Formats: sequence, C-alpha cells, structure tokens
Amino acid sequence: MRRTFRRIRHADSASRNEFSTFAIRGEGGKDAADPTPAPESPMPTTLRSYWKNYVGGAFIDGSAGQRLAVIDPATGSRVAEIAEGTEEDIDRAVAAARDAFTDGVLDRMAPHERGAMLFRIADELEKAADEIAVVECHDNGKTLANGRAEVPLTQRYLRYYGGLADKLEGRQIPLGQGWLDYTVHEPYGVSAQIVPWNGPLPVGARSIACALVTGNTVVLKSPEDSPLSLVLLAEACDRAGVPAGAVNIVCGLGQVAGAALAAHSDIDHIVFTGSVETGKSVLRAAAERVIPCVMELGGKSAGIVFPDADLDQAVTSACGGIFKHAGQICSAGSRLIVHRSVYDEVVARLIARAGAISVGPGIDGCEMGPLISARQLDRVEALCRTGVEEGATLAIGGGRLPRAGYFMAPTVFIDVRPEMRIAQEEFFGPVVVVMPFDTTEEAIAIANGTDYGLAAGLYTRDLGVAHSVARQLVAGQVYVNQWWAGGVETPFGGMKRSGYGREKGQEALLGYMQTKNIGIRL
Ligand code: NAD
Repeated sequence: MRRTFRRIRHADSASRNEFSTFAIRGEGGKDAADPTPAPESPMPTTLRSYWKNYVGGAFIDGSAGQRLAVIDPATGSRVAEIAEGTEEDIDRAVAAARDAFTDGVLDRMAPHERGAMLFRIADELEKAADEIAVVECHDNGKTLANGRAEVPLTQRYLRYYGGLADKLEGRQIPLGQGWLDYTVHEPYGVSAQIVPWNGPLPVGARSIACALVTGNTVVLKSPEDSPLSLVLLAEACDRAGVPAGAVNIVCGLGQVAGAALAAHSDIDHIVFTGSVETGKSVLRAAAERVIPCVMELGGKSAGIVFPDADLDQAVTSACGGIFKHAGQICSAGSRLIVHRSVYDEVVARLIARAGAISVGPGIDGCEMGPLISARQLDRVEALCRTGVEEGATLAIGGGRLPRAGYFMAPTVFIDVRPEMRIAQEEFFGPVVVVMPFDTTEEAIAIANGTDYGLAAGLYTRDLGVAHSVARQLVAGQVYVNQWWAGGVETPFGGMKRSGYGREKGQEALLGYMQTKNIGIRL
C-alpha cells in the first residue's frame, strides 16, 4: 500500500519555510449540481514546497539531510517535500520527550492549565484552517468539503479532552477503621504514536490531546503518505506555548522511523493506528519491553438491512459509509447484508447512487477523490479481479478511471458469498460487497463471520430488533439507522483483530494512564 518515494538530497537545507510556484486551482470545476458547500473564504494559492519535522520545540531538517517527496494522488505529481526522519531523528525526538517528561514540564502545570493549553492549540489551528483544507486535498486526496471539515473535527477533540483535564479523579476505597486508601492516575511517560495516512490530523491530534492532559509527553511518527497536516498541527502547538519536547512530530518511512520508534528502548507506551500486519510487528517490539499498547487496526464492517427499514435512508447511509474518502476509512461499511425480500430494490438503488457520484480531484469540488497511491489502486483493482474470478457479479465499477491520478470507480459487487475473499479482506477502497439473508440469525452470523470487529450497523424501524441485534454483533461500535452514528464523545475501537483499547470518548483516557493505589494505616 506504500507509495513509491523519491529521496532527494539537498546540500543546504534552508531553515526558513520555502514556497513553491506549484499553483493550486481554486474553485474551478464546481457546478450547480455539486453538493459540496462553497468555501467561505479565499483559498491559499500556493503550497509550501518544503516541510520540516518538529523536535524539542524546533522545526528541523532530517539528520541525514534527505527528503521524502509528497505526491498529490489526484495527479500523481510531486507537490512538496518533507524532511525524512531517520532512526537518529527518532532518537533525538525520544530524548527530547524524555527530558520534557523528566523535567516535569506537564506535571508542573495544574490539570486545568493543561486543558487550557489544548484549547489554545485548537484556537491556533483555526488560523491554519484554509491551508489545512488545501493540504488535505493535495497531500491526502480528500474532497474540499472533507478537507475543510478536518479542522472543526480536530478542534472538537482538543476541546473535548481539554475540558476533561481537571476531571480525572481517582477513587477512595473503604477499608474500615484505621485505614485510608485511594487511587491516583499517573502518566506512563513517553507515549510513542504511529498514525496512518487516511486521517492524520484528527487521529494524531486526539492521541496527542489524550497524552497531554494525562501528563505524557509524545513522539508521533507521521505517515509518509500524507504528513503535511500534522506539521500544521505542530505549528499550532508551538504557537500555543506547548512546552518544548512535550510534543515531537517526525515523518519517516514506516520500516525505518516507525520501526525505530516502536522498538525504542526509552518509550513507555504505544498508540498504533494502522493495518493488522504492521500492528503485529509493533506488538512484537512492545512485547520485548512489556510496554502497553492501544491498537486501532483494520475492519471489514457490515451493515444489515432489515425488510422494515426505510430503504431510502438505508441506501443513503450505506453509500456515505463506503464512498466517503473513497472507502479509505477503517470503519467504512464495506459489506451490506440485505434481507432477500428487499435485496433487488436495495441493489438497484445502490447501483444508481454509485453511478451518480462525481469522481475527481477534491480541489475541483468532486464528491469522491483518489486512492492514496498507485500501489493501493493496484491492490484494490487486483482484489476486484479476484471477486470476479470467485464468481461474484460486478454490478458497477471494478477498475481505475482512465485519467491521471489514482482514481478508482465506485464499485458494487452483488451475489457475493460470505466466504469469498472480497467478503473477508479489507479493500480500503470504494468497494461494497452485497449479500442476501433470510433469517436474523443468518445475518448476524455473516456480519460476525470475519476476523475483524471494528464496526457494524443495522437498519430497521423495530426497536426490539435493533437492541437485540446490536448486542449480538461483535464490533466495538454499532450504528443503528445511520452509519457512523456517534462522535468525538463515543468510544471507538476494535474487537477481535481490529485491535484493543479505545480512542475517542472518556474511555480513551484510560489507555494513557496507569492507576496507583495508595493504602495508609492511620
Ligand atoms: P500501515 O499499517 O501500513 O501504516 C500505518 C503507520 O505505520 C504508518 O505511519 C506507517 O509508516 C507505519 N509503519 C509501517 N511499517 C511500520 C513498521 N514496520 N513499524 C512501525 N511502523 C510502521 O497502514 P496504512 O496503510 O497507513 O493505513 C491503512 C490501515 O490502517 C487500514 O488497515 C485501516 O483499516 C487502518 N486504520 C485503522 C484505524 C482505526 O482507528 N482502527 C484508523 C485508520 C486506519
């Protein structure tokens, strides 16, 4: 799934920001039928050509002087470069985070002051909102609407956890006369965080927020496929007065910088979001040093359409659940299990919706952007070919669009059997597989019949069915009548091989603190 990187060596790396002549198209291509809301302010017209890592409160070049090319997935062209973090850079970042933790830079702040710091980061992010929207289009392939939505979402995380900073109370445990017993929450120390490319800004910010309010310092390895928005977060942290070394953000290749961070001898905690295979290698490294991990891994999440469902709502929700960000969302609804009595109707509506989606560069206001890389496009196409070979019917899509960039057609497979590879493996692309069912037990068995357990959904007007089926689905989140029902406040994470630990909501904070019990003989 990795993009092919071109390393570029620069003899002298300027310390100032560099701006390229790379021109960004403004609002070209929008038309009356485009549902993307019009931006409220003029968009920046240039993208910085060179971006740096943030270590010990300074923006720095890679220690080896190398850079990684940043490719726009909508064109396949290089649009910027970022300093390439090496093992040495990870060492420097971990040392900075360790020093900040040992110096007590966060411990000295009262909890409400740590919370106020997160509010300031959120405020500072506002100043970069337009730049972030443009960066997310060109670096990540997001639509302009989704790029714009990244900032308010990230601010919600920062303010939500900022507000909880002074509410992390321990317990007093009654032991009887002559005893006092209570618990306190303590940070782990240096929290190592490894983030995927599909939503680096909100995913990175929510982990950083949880770490800071609980008193941990952070080294975050940003994704080489989409690193730029996290540099803008680093700048917001810097302007907000986050103490030097408390937050360090380094971009580098997964097998180099990511592996070096996971195996580093001076980290105390790991938050990993990414694929199951990489997650396993991170866990092996963590096991060597017996350090705790939060693992947010992949998914193959299923929605069940019962015969009494509002079909219009169900299909609208299911389409949003798989075609948003071209299906590159861990909790995408990539399987649809439909009662046989409404199967033909649902399939017809799905095909019509999929065929009507405008696919193209997000910056042009299209509804669905590209996949992140040529490699990911090859992978998704190859799995589609497997589906056809397995005997599934390709109802629409199934291949790349004949244009520059890494665009995949919205794809619907029907007549799919649960044991087929396309019903078991994560595409991480705009592909939904549709399967019929006759009984509720059968639908639940199909939904639960993969290695994953990240999310699940169901569409029905019957509250009894909703509650009963929701309890039987093996998934960390269950959505009833709306895919992604929930929010910043609701715990999110996997069961089975989708991982463990929770992000979002109050539960997430539990993954960043250890409990100490203090018992006193009076
Ligand atoms: P990935 O596992 O390839 O990469 C994730 C991160 O790990 C990247 O920063 C990468 O550089 C790093 N990495 C790669 N090799 C490494 C190694 N050997 N040691 C340490 N770090 C390494 O995943 P991806 O392709 O970036 O993202 C897609 C996957 O992530 C999908 O499976 C998706 O479902 C999952 N995901 C899960 C969630 C969630 O919350 N559950 C959210 C987003 C994405």
